[in-house]
Amino acid sequence: MAKQRVLSGVQPTGNLHLGNYLGAIRNWVEGQHQYDNFFCVVDLHAITVPHNPATLTQDTYTIAALYLACGIDLNDSTIFVQSHISAHSELAWLLNCITPLNWLTDMTQYKEKAVKQGENVSVGLLDYPVLMAADILLYDADKVPVGEDQKQHLELTRDLVDTFNHKFAKPDRPVLKKPDPLIRAEGARVMSLTDGTKKMSKSDPSELSRINLLDSPDVIQNKIKRCKTDPTRGLVFDDPDRPECNNLLTLYMLLSGQTKEAVAAECREMGWGQFKPLLTETTIAHLKPIQAKYQEIMAETGYLDLVLRDGREKAGAIANATLLRVKDALGYSRVLV
Ligand code: ATP
Ligand code: MG
Repeated sequence: MAKQRVLSGVQPTGNLHLGNYLGAIRNWVEGQHQYDNFFCVVDLHAITVPHNPATLTQDTYTIAALYLACGIDLNDSTIFVQSHISAHSELAWLLNCITPLNWLTDMTQYKEKAVKQGENVSVGLLDYPVLMAADILLYDADKVPVGEDQKQHLELTRDLVDTFNHKFAKPDRPVLKKPDPLIRAEGARVMSLTDGTKKMSKSDPSELSRINLLDSPDVIQNKIKRCKTDPTRGLVFDDPDRPECNNLLTLYMLLSGQTKEAVAAECREMGWGQFKPLLTETTIAHLKPIQAKYQEIMAETGYLDLVLRDGREKAGAIANATLLRVKDALGYSRVLV
């Protein structure tokens, strides 16, 4: 039987952080042998917020290299860049025309990011979830491993599939496939180091709010030293009045590979002065092999270009076939050359 297909991606809006890693990429790596995987760097999404043209390409390469450094295996997975395949933009347009406007204005991410853009909110920011639906649907993805913040966008994608199939497909021959989100219980929402009620984000203006996968040991030490804590002694999970404590213990649990019970027992009597160096050491040790692999990949001239060119070919063939199917269903003519 053919393997189920997985699709996911990260925007090149900055450096990958522990939230992206624990909420998404770690799960891609762990599940990859079981699935037929497509992982993209979603650079069309990256311009829905103000961006710097001078760093977009470099950020895109850095993220693709980090996918490999984190353990994405090209025998199971295809890595590509969204803007290399124009079918993403084209399907987004076609889906736009069946998307009710209020579905988009209701999205939490839109509301949160729009506030930050003030008077200059772009149509692109509003349209983000439709482009994301196009990304997923072009590959007939069965599963989409993402962090918890993307759950609402996945629900919108599923609703769009129903709308499209209902209007333009025969009941027994759907044109678009309905994907399922894959969201892990632990690590699906890593919180900011400076505010335990906000998620860790690439676009947070404060560098101190996140640990990036490429941060040096000194930087990691400094960020953990300065992260927000509370005055209470004894560290516990799941206390709603201590969001920072829960977040830091969860990071320690996931990065050290221990169970929740073991961490709860180890930290029950600890103060921050004892815990912070432990978390620092664990984080540095976990990221060390990823950073070494990243340097190796970047040092090999031309290697990433080859990976991305290969990815563009494989992904493009599938995406273009789906786009044709969608256009046929919508009644577009094909010019036979
Ligand atoms: P931005 O602030 O630009 O939106 P981001 O940090 O939210 O950046 P994205 O590129 O939007 O990162 O998301 C990439 C993947 O990482 C998605 O699957 C998303 O759900 C996941 N993710 C993002 N932030 C977190 C987080 N704090 N905890 C767990 N998963 C996260
Ligand atoms: Mg995001």
